[in-house]
Formats: sequence, C-alpha cells, structure tokens
Amino acid sequence: MTSTNKPRWPGGAEAVICVTIHVDGPAVEAGRGQNALGINSRGNYALRRGVDRYLDMLDRHGIKATFFCCGYDAEHWPEPFRKMHAAGHEIAAHGYQHEGFDLGEREPELLEKTHRILTDVTGEAPVGWCSPSGRKSKLTLPTLRRLGYRYDASEKDEDLPYLLDDGFAVVPNNTVSLDDFPMYFTGGALASEVERNFVQEFDAISGRDGYVHLTVHPKAGGGSGTPARAAAVDRFLAYAKAKPGTRFMTCNEIADHCLANPATWREPRQ
Ligand SMILES: [Zn+2]
Repeated sequence: MTSTNKPRWPGGAEAVICVTIHVDGPAVEAGRGQNALGINSRGNYALRRGVDRYLDMLDRHGIKATFFCCGYDAEHWPEPFRKMHAAGHEIAAHGYQHEGFDLGEREPELLEKTHRILTDVTGEAPVGWCSPSGRKSKLTLPTLRRLGYRYDASEKDEDLPYLLDDGFAVVPNNTVSLDDFPMYFTGGALASEVERNFVQEFDAISGRDGYVHLTVHPKAGGGSGTPARAAAVDRFLAYAKAKPGTRFMTCNEIADHCLANPATWREPRQ
C-alpha cells in the first residue's frame, strides 16, 4: 500500500497515542472453567487494585483511555466500571467471559449480552470492540454493526487506522511489542525492560503521522497492575506526554476522526 495522500491527525499532531486498558478480571478464569483463586486470582487483582491504580495515574496525567471490558466482570462487579465511565474514559467491549475461541452460532447472543450489560452499568452504549484473542467469525462484524458499533480494535495488520467502508473503522493494535501481556506472561520480562521497549517503540513510531496503540492489563501476572510495573507505564506516559506534537486520543475519538475524513482513511489508502 502506498501513502501519498498522507493522513492527518487532528490539530496537526505528529503522533497520536491511544492508551487501551484491557481489564481482564475474573471473567478470564470463569471462561476457562477455573476458580479465581490462588494462581488463578490475578484477574481479581485487576478489580481490587489495578483499575484504581490506573484511574489515579490517568487522572494525574490528564489522559483519557479506552477500557476494554468483559460483560461477566461488569455484571458481577459493576462499581469499577462505573468509576471508569464517571472519570470520562471510554468503555468498550471485550467478550463476555473473554472468549478466545470460535463461538459459532452463539456469538451474536454473547455480543448482545455484553453490550446490554455494559450499557446498563454505565448508562452509555459501547461503540468499540476488541476480540479477546484476535479471533473473529463471519458473524462478528455484522452483529457489531447491527448493535451500533463503529470500530473494531482487533487487527494487527497496519501501522495506522483505516476504514473498511464509510461506516466502520479498524483501530489496529500491536500485540507484539506494545502490549504488556506477551512480554510479561510469555517472555518473562522485567518492568525495566518493558519500559525501555515502550520508549523505543514510541521513538520509532512517533514521527509525522505516527500512531501508537499501547495495551496494558491492570491485573497481576501477565499485566502491569502491580506497583513496579504500573510505575513503568507511568514513566512511559510521562515520556510520551513530554514530546511536542503528541496527542492522546481514545479509540472512539480516533474512529470518529477517521470516519469524518473518509477520503484520507479509506482502505486502500491512496
Ligand atoms: Zn483481554
């Protein structure tokens, strides 16, 4: 794909960074048929400690984030989700029990259930979705469109957001090097290594028309909920904020911007 007609961010920003918080509470363990105890209690940590830690951090930095939320978590522990919404963050959908497998004919029912729960808990209908595993079926996007969604944040296939058509945006993520889960859970990295990696990614991406999609999990274990790991994210956000020309946007704001400028963001980009 060529990009002679280069996209332009709002306000002439040189780089946009979206901070996405994948809450991944006990819904993950419930979806696997596990009791959320002991080694399987890292999702509980997100709702007990991690979410508040991130709400404080984002408030200090004056950053609005996108929280991807499982329906099961919001259904059983609504208060943290109300707090996220009341603080002005975007609430987006992330499966009912973090289903990372093909749901077949059941998928529309679960997408609708999560949609209903998040809408009831926060009073506002979500417009964004991210697949818990990257999996999608032929039923996924038609169901999301029917429910009024405007973007999908599951793809890993581009450096920039793009439009499938004039009515739906793709806000891609980078689960290789701007997502804490594989670095901690699979790679066994240290907080200092993850922080340095985030900075290197940001420096490499953040030139003209840069797009930095950071994904963190407020849980213990495969995430950045615990103090030293959250502190690494905190320092990274301070670093990104200090660079002139950086603008923080939620996924919803990015989707809105792309949808309002279809000639610039339509796929394939000219
Ligand atoms: Zn997740």
